[in-house]
Amino acid sequence: MVDRPGRLQTRRQILKTAIGGTAGIVLGTPVLSLTAARAQAVSESAGTGTLRLSDDLFVVRIPGEANVVAQIDGKGVLLVDGGSAAGSDALMKAVSSLPAAGPVHTIFNTHWHTGQTGSNERLGRAGAAIIAHENTRLWLTQNITWPWNGQRFARLPKVAQPNKTFYTTGKLDSDVRYGYIPDAAHTDGDLYVHFPKQNVLAVGDAVSGQGWPSVDWWTGGWIGGIVGGLQRLQTLADENTRIVPARGPVLSLTDLKAQYEMYGTIYDRLSQMLNKGRGPTEAVAAAPTKEFDAQMGNPDEFVRRAFESLWAYLSPDA
Ligand SMILES: [Zn+2]
Repeated sequence: MVDRPGRLQTRRQILKTAIGGTAGIVLGTPVLSLTAARAQAVSESAGTGTLRLSDDLFVVRIPGEANVVAQIDGKGVLLVDGGSAAGSDALMKAVSSLPAAGPVHTIFNTHWHTGQTGSNERLGRAGAAIIAHENTRLWLTQNITWPWNGQRFARLPKVAQPNKTFYTTGKLDSDVRYGYIPDAAHTDGDLYVHFPKQNVLAVGDAVSGQGWPSVDWWTGGWIGGIVGGLQRLQTLADENTRIVPARGPVLSLTDLKAQYEMYGTIYDRLSQMLNKGRGPTEAVAAAPTKEFDAQMGNPDEFVRRAFESLWAYLSPDA
């Protein structure tokens, strides 16, 4: 489902693709320290409970679950992601206790992973709109097995599948905007949801707020897409935008810029190794993330997946 180029893009080419006609917006960004972002991550990493972003917008954080953004409007509640099936009861309880909450009328799936789509079935049965990129719907209609660990995911029943899909962008009557992140930062169906009034951007797993990201190359994600997605999302944010990832604390534009620098550096190193004919094990051994590991944690699985993602991106049959 991904457009795969016939050859590896350089970082500069990814950049050009990501920012389209707005060249120059982020070029020349200074290298920013990750220290501030990481300090915040540490202080909030155990954060659970509800975080209030504005009078009508919240991050609902259930222990062990991904972040869920909830907006209260005149019709009820809009959610961005729905946690796992196991956490769905706790999530719905927390959502129903938000001030002036009504029934959930709309849920966005930022991507197909079970940590985001576990409330689809109950909400679909209740008649909610389930909005996702068309690629996400397609993944949810089939059984998936991850080749790196054998983990299996069963297709969702029809009622739980997204019932309102799109390809590029969309807008709700409430002025909530959403759009595809075509770089394939995490999967090939990533979306963002933008709340312009509250200046909040929900980005799912396209940006990791906590530790190294998982690179799901089996369903289209790749390390170049992480870089491209970080570039693209910067064009939707200003210095006051609150950016809510699926994992970890709320981030800022400064955090996105710092992450962009870091993943760009790692992408360049892995690409060079690929061009020299090296493999994933050699990539891990070469410690291409070494100056970031103290802040980010053990990188081995991330580096392996990221390197494999370059292979997958280049292979038409992957
Ligand atoms: Zn995910």
